[in-house]
Amino acid sequence: MVRTGDAQLIRELNKSIILDIIRKQGPISRADISKKVAISPTTVASCVNVLMKDSLVMENGTGVSSGGRKPILVQLNPVERFIIGVAINASKITIAALNLYATVQRKESHSLTHKTYDDLSDFIIKLLRDFIEPYQQKEKCLGVSITFQGIVDADKGVIVYNPKLNMTNVSLKEKIEQALQITTYIDNDTNGSLLAEKGYGHYQQSKNLVYVTIGDGVGASILVNDAIYRGHHGGAGEFGHTTINFNGPVCKCGNIGCLENYVSWPAIQSRMESDIIKGKKVNDI
Ligand SMILES: [Zn+2]
Repeated sequence: MVRTGDAQLIRELNKSIILDIIRKQGPISRADISKKVAISPTTVASCVNVLMKDSLVMENGTGVSSGGRKPILVQLNPVERFIIGVAINASKITIAALNLYATVQRKESHSLTHKTYDDLSDFIIKLLRDFIEPYQQKEKCLGVSITFQGIVDADKGVIVYNPKLNMTNVSLKEKIEQALQITTYIDNDTNGSLLAEKGYGHYQQSKNLVYVTIGDGVGASILVNDAIYRGHHGGAGEFGHTTINFNGPVCKCGNIGCLENYVSWPAIQSRMESDIIKGKKVNDI
C-alpha cells in the first residue's frame, strides 16, 4: 500500500527534478523534459502547470516540430519571483536580490564593526527589513539565503561558532523567520561557494569536489556523491583551526598555532608589515 506521505514526497521530488532540468536546459519542451528525466509526459505536464502557477517557470516560444505542431518551450520565469542572498564576513554584510537565473538585480553593502550593532541578529533583521521594504509584493520573495564564516548547522539554521563575530549557538534562521515571515536558509560561506560552482560554475558535472577558501579565514567545503559532507555540527571543512605549530600564537578560537594564523590574508599582511618594520627587503619577505 502506498502511503499518502510517499505520494506527496514523490510529487515534490518530481517537481524539483523538472525545475532543475528547466533551469539547466531551458527553454525546453515538455516532451524533451520527459525524455531527459524519464518521468511520464502526464506527470511532467502536471508538474509544469504547478510550476507555472507558482510563477517559477513560463512558456516562451516554440521549438522545432518533429512532424506535428511545434512544441511550446518552457523556461525559468526571470521576472516574477526573486531570492535574497546575504553574505556576511567579519567586516561586511552584502545583501542582494537575485532572479531565478541568479542575476543580481539590486545589491548593497554595509560595513560591520562591533560599534555598528549591539546584537548582530537584530542588526541583520533590520537591514533585511529595510531591503525588502520597497517591494510591494513581498510574497514574491522565495526565501533568504545567508552565508557565514565559521561553523554553521545548516539543518537547524544555527550559527554554532563564529569567534570573529562573537556568535555561539545563535538560532538565526528561527529569529529571522519569526521577524520577517520569509523562509530562511543559513550555511557556511564556503559551502555557499561550492554550491554556486556546482549550480552555475565550472563544476556542474562533478559529483565529488573539495573547495578551499583562503581569505579572512581558511576553510573548505566537501562534496561527496553530490551531497555536502557536513560532519559534526557542520564543522567538517573547518580545517583552518587545526594546530600546525604547538609553540605558535594563541588563536581567537582559544587553540594554539592554528593554520589560519599563518596563511590567511590578515596573517600574511601582519607578517609583511612586521618584516618591513624590521627593515627586510621586499624580495626577502
Ligand atoms: Zn583557531
